[in-house]
Amino acid sequence: MKATMDKLVNLCKGRGIIYPGSEIYGGMGNTWDYGPVGVEIKNNIKRAWWKRFVQESENSYGIDAAILMNSRVWEASGHTTSFSDPKMDCKNCKTRHRADTLIEMHSKGKVNPDTMTNEEMEAYIREHHVTCPKCGKSDFTPIRTFNLMFETTRGVTEEGQNVVYLRPETAQGEFVNFLNVQRTTRAKVPFGIGQIGKAFRNEITPGNFIFRTIEFEQMEHQWFCKKGTDGEYYEYFKKAAWDFLVDLDFDPSHLRYKDHDKLAHYAKAACDIQYLFPIGWSELNGIHNRTDYDLSRHSQFSGKNMEYTDPVTGEKYVPYVIEYSIGADRLMLAALTEAYDEETLEGGDTRVVMRFSPAIAAYKAAVLPLQKNLSEGARAIYRKLSKEFMCTYDEAGSIGKRYRRQDEIGTPFCVTVDFDTEKDGTVTVRDRDTMEQIRISADKLVPYIAEKIRF
Ligand code: ATP
Repeated sequence: MKATMDKLVNLCKGRGIIYPGSEIYGGMGNTWDYGPVGVEIKNNIKRAWWKRFVQESENSYGIDAAILMNSRVWEASGHTTSFSDPKMDCKNCKTRHRADTLIEMHSKGKVNPDTMTNEEMEAYIREHHVTCPKCGKSDFTPIRTFNLMFETTRGVTEEGQNVVYLRPETAQGEFVNFLNVQRTTRAKVPFGIGQIGKAFRNEITPGNFIFRTIEFEQMEHQWFCKKGTDGEYYEYFKKAAWDFLVDLDFDPSHLRYKDHDKLAHYAKAACDIQYLFPIGWSELNGIHNRTDYDLSRHSQFSGKNMEYTDPVTGEKYVPYVIEYSIGADRLMLAALTEAYDEETLEGGDTRVVMRFSPAIAAYKAAVLPLQKNLSEGARAIYRKLSKEFMCTYDEAGSIGKRYRRQDEIGTPFCVTVDFDTEKDGTVTVRDRDTMEQIRISADKLVPYIAEKIRF
């Protein structure tokens, strides 16, 4: 693994992948803006996920629910009372920390704070003289719990204002629409609902580039099934989540399953897939067997019966839910890490090359005229290819420099237009990974590239 966080941040900024948010005003901590290249990659990641888990998943349906939801939703889900992290302040330098993270860092992952109470965490930190990562002192306030939901208000007059929350996860949109989707699609259990959308968390310790931010996108799929079949579907989605990553060209040795040691009170089973990020092994996605907790709670709080009636047997029951949840931005960081390579070339030169799966690369092809006076023909090819997929055009600088620029953003194919193109209609196609070049008819470019970028 050759990527470090610094290298990724610099490359992303310099190549239009991701910029610091509100930069001209000095930034806004832990917000990031996707640039022209980054937005394409992220959209391709989302498209690949949607294709796999909605389009190709038999009996799965997509939705796009509102970010602002009735506040009762968050009471039913338990977020208003228990969506919090154990927070501690360093009395010396006043920085804020998560007690569980301090313990994990201090024990180098050997102690699992998930199984500890707040008192046990405080005792551990005291007894082991766990120090502040910023100033090195070991002098913390007691743990206080801190709700991670962003609050805002709605209403036109001061008096008539109600507190509303920016959703901290997309999942509740799927749960509250269970009956709508089931009835309008006439879906039979088991079936799934998938959604991609923004979520917001007032994280105590955001950071590590786009790993943990306060605003991020989630891709979530809830599978509604009958109790008794839940174990089998849990295993199915564990595998499906893994296969999705491997099909995006992730090296399986950079992935591992991690079962949760402490289960949420409603969960029957839960595991993460961790990825070997530049910061070490960390959660990339989660798979949870949430039992019938969510639908039962919404039934209880809304007064609506969330039972499903089996059309054959007439049996009524509240389905179990298998949840698969992955952050689009966290997957983007994993994809950037996985793709980053520095290669020493013959003659001693080095090149940085992003070896993205062609399916998620921002531009599928770059069209490059060998010289500027070939630009008319080159632009015509660019226009033709652009009708089929995202392409870029570059005529500035030596051809070698232009190849390097495309390598750094991971463009899988460079199409070079030269003097022979005018004579016989052929172009060269350079492969990003092998740097080998082949000569093909410009008319064959579309099927040639389409075949290689399919997911
Ligand atoms: P963590 O333990 O890292 O805080 P979590 O267990 O709270 O994560 P979930 O609530 O299961 O995470 O969210 C599902 C997925 O959403 C995570 O696996 C991750 O990919 C993504 N995610 C969660 N929080 C953030 C965040 N603050 N920034 C970016 N992505 C996030």
